[in-house]
Amino acid sequence: MDAMQLNTPVTELNGVGQTRSRLLSRLGIETLGDLLSFFPRTYEDRTKIVKLCDMQVDVPACFRATVISLPRTSRIRKGMTITKLTVSDMTARIRIVFFNKPYITDQLHYGEDYLFYGCLREGYGLQIQNPDVEPVRDDRTKTGRILPIYPLTAGLTNYQLCSYVQQAVRSCLAQLPEILPDSVRKQYDLCGIREAYAAIHAPKDHEQLARARRRLIFEEFFLFSAGLSILRSSREKQLVEPWETADLSLFRAALPYTLTGAQQRAIRDIAESLRTGVRMNRLVQGDVGSGKTAVAAAAAFLAHHAGFQTAFMAPTEILAEQHAKTLGALLGKLDIEVVLLTGALSAPERRWVLSRIEDGHAGLVVGTHALLTDRVTFKNLGLVITDEQHRFGVAQRAKLAGKSAAPHMLFLSATPIPRTLAMILYGDMAVSVLDELPPGRKKIDTFLVDESKRERAHAFIRAQVMAGHQVYVVCPAVEDNEDFPLKSAEVWSDHLQKEVFPDLRVGLIHGRLRSEEKDQVMQRFSQGELDILVATTVIEVGVDVPNATLMVIENAERFGMSQLHQLRGRVGRGESQSYCILFSDAKNEEARKRLKALCASNDGFYLAEQDLALRGPGDFFGSRQHGLPQFRVADLQLDMKTLREAQDASGVLQSEEVLHDPAYAPLLERIKQLFREKGDIFQ
Ligand code: ADP
Ligand code: MG
Repeated sequence: MDAMQLNTPVTELNGVGQTRSRLLSRLGIETLGDLLSFFPRTYEDRTKIVKLCDMQVDVPACFRATVISLPRTSRIRKGMTITKLTVSDMTARIRIVFFNKPYITDQLHYGEDYLFYGCLREGYGLQIQNPDVEPVRDDRTKTGRILPIYPLTAGLTNYQLCSYVQQAVRSCLAQLPEILPDSVRKQYDLCGIREAYAAIHAPKDHEQLARARRRLIFEEFFLFSAGLSILRSSREKQLVEPWETADLSLFRAALPYTLTGAQQRAIRDIAESLRTGVRMNRLVQGDVGSGKTAVAAAAAFLAHHAGFQTAFMAPTEILAEQHAKTLGALLGKLDIEVVLLTGALSAPERRWVLSRIEDGHAGLVVGTHALLTDRVTFKNLGLVITDEQHRFGVAQRAKLAGKSAAPHMLFLSATPIPRTLAMILYGDMAVSVLDELPPGRKKIDTFLVDESKRERAHAFIRAQVMAGHQVYVVCPAVEDNEDFPLKSAEVWSDHLQKEVFPDLRVGLIHGRLRSEEKDQVMQRFSQGELDILVATTVIEVGVDVPNATLMVIENAERFGMSQLHQLRGRVGRGESQSYCILFSDAKNEEARKRLKALCASNDGFYLAEQDLALRGPGDFFGSRQHGLPQFRVADLQLDMKTLREAQDASGVLQSEEVLHDPAYAPLLERIKQLFREKGDIFQ
């Protein structure tokens, strides 16, 4: 065999041809290096062989036993077989059943001994279902070890993956470069990279596995924090002329309400940043309805009086329109011109708007995220505000930060991120939290119901509409799908319109519509031309429709808690009492806990902490749209201590010398790679 390199394609391995390499590439594995970094999903502890009499219910274990009855297969229903046999190990005898594995009768011989790994279950009497079986031989591969279990794809077995990974370990482990500085490894007692990779794939014992995991987790956090800290320090070097910040009493006088304490604090934070002479990079985090728009308006006011223009970017055109309207009304009173730049403008309108931006008359320019990439020339852009920043990953932030001119940056986010996580996600930013809602907000009454309440829910929807209000109905899917029996927006809206509410006006909105179509539907709903809007989560960041008082969510268990909270925030924006009905037939204990927590609380931050505790951060954020890094080994919740250490350690990269020290070159290269080419791992 030729010398294998980390970038050698997997096809060079024994047993991997075209077919298998295609399967491997489905798992993102192309090279031996990829195999090395393909970490097990979990492990099965097969180090101890227990006596049958010592087995505990629902605790997986290895045991050695003799087959003492002939395995018998019977058909229980169409396409389903069950094979039963009895085994014994002198301490006890137990029944084993296999589902849909009739061929097992050829492998298990009467009177012979085998090694089994499985779980004792209660139910149909005590039995063990579908255990893993291995003959008692010296060359056995599973028993006696901590067995790595890899993520799989159809057509590949765990056994095959183990064997490929081990080939990669044998041939190119030694080529893995050590990227953690020696000093850091010593200080935090971390094993070397080769030891870590060898052990993560074939741990000798739990202690060794724990050491390997610690090292790899540390490394992930370290790279991430170090990257953010480089981002931050590069920004800290971006000096700008310090701004003179105007007195805000005029601004306050123009508001139809009094600012909350939290809003005042956030505005003070912003004003302070603007005065320092270092480019601002600040996140304003506040639950839905906490009044982030007013904070943004204050920032635009400050920019205007310092002689600068502000760009305000919203995630959708319709949201941009809404912001332009509210901000225009408020800032207009203060003699600040607000213009809206969207794709919907006619050519002459667009020309006029562009000229107002270019000659500096427009003090605030509202548009979508395309605003900065469009060929728009500002006379004097000083501040960029991004609304609903949770859709904005670190990679995009880095890109924005790299823009030639250096405007101050302000991000608004409604995703309630637990403090612990915010610390990592926004390590490169200053954060202001709006932890206070404007006074007089009514709690949205939330109910968890199952299908038996369907008629009552229909009646409730009708009652709300009859009272002059509007209703959202959210479904987890766009169209029906045989594999997942979920309510789909298309089918369900059709059903509601035709069968249940033929006399009401039912609309439909989902992500597959073109954006003009979406805007049109949303427009009709917000102007009261629709009574019921059946939607997918596209309405999550949406237009304010204060007249909407009821949110019905179908298959609620399919959504993350944060997402449900966000969706629920679409109602309760007006004077009237608002409601949220969560439909779910899920029996799953944890899912029910989450949904009940939602019924009990309207506090997004509290719910976020709860969800984090219940499910861990991956699920909390539901999908990958939230800018949360995808850690491969680390668990943000369990590994907080390591995270803090890694954050401290990443401070070494603050010093100039280190950045030019060749010993750190591979590390810096790796960080650059993560942030630039594979920016998506941070999304
Ligand atoms: P979000 O933080 O979700 O963007 P908005 O800025 O849209 O919240 O504000 C939600 C509503 O609360 C708006 O109708 C706004 O006019 C109102 N509002 C904002 N601040 C206050 C306040 N201090 N007192 C009363 N109402 C407020
Ligand atoms: Mg908002």
